[in-house]
Amino acid sequence: MNHILLIEDEESVATVIKGYLEKEGYSVHCAPAGLKGLDLLNRFEFKLIILDLMLPDISGEEVCKIIRQSSDVHIFMLTAKGSLNDKIEGLNIGADEYLVKPFSPRELTARVNALFRRLSSKFPSSKVIFDDGYLMIDCDKRSIRVLEQEISFTPNEFDILCALVSAKGNVLSREQLIDKIFGVDFSGYDRTIDVHIKNIRKKIEIDTKIPKYVLTVMKAGYKFGGEK
Ligand code: CA
Repeated sequence: MNHILLIEDEESVATVIKGYLEKEGYSVHCAPAGLKGLDLLNRFEFKLIILDLMLPDISGEEVCKIIRQSSDVHIFMLTAKGSLNDKIEGLNIGADEYLVKPFSPRELTARVNALFRRLSSKFPSSKVIFDDGYLMIDCDKRSIRVLEQEISFTPNEFDILCALVSAKGNVLSREQLIDKIFGVDFSGYDRTIDVHIKNIRKKIEIDTKIPKYVLTVMKAGYKFGGEK
């Protein structure tokens, strides 16, 4: 059973989302406030958290930061704020995807289904292992280490890095990355790829200003620069 935690204080929104997702066979647990949501976290093995930003007690941003201290569970953020800056802020604190209210429950359902398809099918190039002594990437085991230290990656960051490594030095455009990662064409994802890339660099590059592993190719996209 795939458990989803829904942290949303608007009862009408929560009821609609729960209804749609349960029809798809998910087990949806609802929390009407941030602390209650955090409380539920340890009771089930959640694969996805759908998190509203405006909550009556602590903010969704706070909830996200707290979850990220101990977990790389997938997080979808729901918010009425739609500006690009807010999206980037959400991604910077560890959200994987972002939905702006009012969104259609069908779109949310499609994204949730796409996520679970990704999680259940192994990464196509799952055998790829990169290791240059500093950085070790094992796509199969979903493990990334820097100087032997396991680095915490969100699912999207992990899939982007593995897609680049699997391309073996070939350039992938933002559209190709979106396609490989999400398997579906969602509008407005171009910039979120850039934010994920920035976060990946912070985690693995020695100097983020002169990246060695995740290289920008002007007007084309990104490529993995670790292999000669
Ligand atoms: Ca709310």
